[in-house]
Amino acid sequence: MRKRNILAIVATLTVFNLSFISFTKAQTQYSSFLADPSGALREHNVDMEDMLLDIHFKPEKGLVEGKVTYTFTPIRSKIDSLYLDGPEINFKQVTLDGNDVKYKKTDAGITIYFSTPLIWDAKHKIMLDYEAHPKKGLYFIGWNDSTNRSRKEIWTQGELTDNRYWLPGYDDPDDKLITEVLVTFDSKYKVLSNGAKISEKDNKDGTKTWHYKMPHPHALYLVMLGIGNYDIFTTKAASGVTINEWYNADVPEKREPTYRYTDDIMNFLEKEIGVPYAWGSYSQIPVQDFLYGAMENTSATIFGDFFEVNNREFLDRNYIGVNAHEMTHQWFGDLITCRSGRNMWLHESFATYYAKLYSRHHFGEDNYRWNCRGEANAALAASKTDQNPLEYSGAGGRIYPKGSCVLGMLRYVVGDEEYHKAVAAYLEKHKFDNVEAYDFRIAFHDVLGINLDWFFDEWIERGGEPHYDVSYEQGIKSTILHIKQTQTINDVLTYFKMPIVAEVHYTDGTVDSKKEWVEGASSTITVPNTGGKTIDFVLFDPNSEILKSYVFHKGFEEWKAQALRAPNMIDRYDALVALRDTDINKKRDLLISVYNKETYQATKTEILSQLAKDDNTQTYSLFKKAIADNDYDARNAAITNINKIPASDMADYEKLLNDSSYHIEEVALGKLCEEYPDKKAEFLDRAKDIQGINLTGRIVWLRLSIEADRNKTDNLNTLIDYTTPAFEFRTRINAFQALQALNYLDNKTLRSLFDASLSWNSRLAGPANDVLTFYYKEDNYHKMIKDFYDNGNWTKEQKETLGKVVK
Ligand SMILES: [Zn+2]
Repeated sequence: MRKRNILAIVATLTVFNLSFISFTKAQTQYSSFLADPSGALREHNVDMEDMLLDIHFKPEKGLVEGKVTYTFTPIRSKIDSLYLDGPEINFKQVTLDGNDVKYKKTDAGITIYFSTPLIWDAKHKIMLDYEAHPKKGLYFIGWNDSTNRSRKEIWTQGELTDNRYWLPGYDDPDDKLITEVLVTFDSKYKVLSNGAKISEKDNKDGTKTWHYKMPHPHALYLVMLGIGNYDIFTTKAASGVTINEWYNADVPEKREPTYRYTDDIMNFLEKEIGVPYAWGSYSQIPVQDFLYGAMENTSATIFGDFFEVNNREFLDRNYIGVNAHEMTHQWFGDLITCRSGRNMWLHESFATYYAKLYSRHHFGEDNYRWNCRGEANAALAASKTDQNPLEYSGAGGRIYPKGSCVLGMLRYVVGDEEYHKAVAAYLEKHKFDNVEAYDFRIAFHDVLGINLDWFFDEWIERGGEPHYDVSYEQGIKSTILHIKQTQTINDVLTYFKMPIVAEVHYTDGTVDSKKEWVEGASSTITVPNTGGKTIDFVLFDPNSEILKSYVFHKGFEEWKAQALRAPNMIDRYDALVALRDTDINKKRDLLISVYNKETYQATKTEILSQLAKDDNTQTYSLFKKAIADNDYDARNAAITNINKIPASDMADYEKLLNDSSYHIEEVALGKLCEEYPDKKAEFLDRAKDIQGINLTGRIVWLRLSIEADRNKTDNLNTLIDYTTPAFEFRTRINAFQALQALNYLDNKTLRSLFDASLSWNSRLAGPANDVLTFYYKEDNYHKMIKDFYDNGNWTKEQKETLGKVVK
């Protein structure tokens, strides 16, 4: 599935009737402790085998004209009709095996009636000739930009059920078919679709016909099109898989930084997953105004062009993680596919987990543990809203972070090689087919003889996470940890059973450890201390293998020892976090000495944030050192957290106005201008060439320049221009928000604002609506907005949207 910004996902709070909760768990293939009607399997009466689509467009009119032919076989003894999804599609002709058939168009699709019932096992062909002005699923970008500056593109986004708006068919993931696509379009552009390019033929009318065909079956929602002004760079993975890197032809310098490590990711995944890439070639294509981060269409991933970066922008944002995520989906999601929304975690948790594994491979163990921590925090935060299980259609955004943590724990429980073997067997057994959670669970029993019912029960079929309260006492020849589980127990949340390590570090530098099952309301772990050594610090679950929250009762000296001497970064980080409320004078020396030992950004960043408000010369020296650090994150944390820039250190901070990172330059410019307004003109002059991804830095520079001198109309006009549909959506949002900060609105901006508020792209419409709402509440602008609305010629739908703001 599409990779979304996890923080932006509002988990669906599913209202469920308690009487539906199953109190005894039946050994079925579809386990759930919650009623899940939305996750039910859809019924259908034929098996789709292949699809041939012949399609063309009139982009200025937003028109799709297509002919689609499906080969299918009835899977009931006798069928007299066939229903296909296709909302708002206008059908011109429908034939069965070449002969016209009766059909009835409904709001959601089409029912085709057979004069003689079709019997099972016989193959038939149904052809639909149609046209559509799709509201979803297929998007025309920039074709109506009156200034002719926007990129012109056509692209699709099928998941979950949006392909049906431009491609009628059985649009559910539980029936796979071989797809073949012929696209005829203006020969100035390039066209990408799924599978191998069979041919690219010139037509006499200045168009070309591109012909793509999939080598194996996949689900209909994974059918894609990407059309625009692109160039293509082709390379090969170690296994021989062809990798096509599509890039916008106007920015060739962005190709390499954008796709950096792509072949390495493919090499890594083929080895790590243990099953070869199945689709022959792999293409990726950036598109403007994409609705999500990226989408794993089979053999042809689409991603937002906000990931298309040059060498300098690469420091501030890169595509590596999303690249690995979508590529993983080529196995988990595309090669094997869940039948319904109940098991989306079988796609997203794996894509998130293997992307994290690639990060470990490339960036090291600390990076991996830090990613695990971010996921654990997201999972625990989601549980504050609801405690829905992973295997549940209402699981929400937790299928990404929690699912990834759970797969890491599964591997921790069964062992690396065992995990690897079971996963490969699971993929091989079900390739080009559909799966349920059961198939994954039973693979561990089939391959390794391991019964993982208990693990799936607590981590996948039920919700929530364990909360531990941990303390310890020193026995005569042992250290005894007392562990209580303090989470609320109910029908979907249970006590967790997990093997957990306790590790006792002694003042002489030696360590004793013990791994025990921790389960039920309370347990103990007894770690022998035969030598009667003096304890330096004790760790519960060192390196944070378990997804949990916990309270460990320790004093300052023990946290200090842990911060200085724990072997794993994440345990040292946890010790620092435990000191957040400690008096600054008590911890300052410790924080500074830990900073000087640490190499990883998370611990350094935590220290800088704890010291940010400390008015002390030692602290100022540390910040001065941090802003000159070679590590991007240290410089970023220092300039972001610094509370006051001492005048004596200003020259050092000014150097950040020429930082290699646009983002750091932008933050430094803002801070310096705020603290030393007298020198604003000088700072602005020094940073006058700033750009940044989606013009972020440029827009901050323009806003500050306008604040400094309102008479410079050039800057204001540039900023207003950035709000227009000639620019991609993130630039437009940045510009709207900058103008809002300036409390400036004119007719041109207002026109842009209405246009953006009505966009199909919710990621543009949402922020634009917020800005419009802000202005509408301002006395200066209220009438201007009301007049604009009253004089406009809006459709009923547009009125409904705008009416929420303009009342
Ligand atoms: Zn995904």
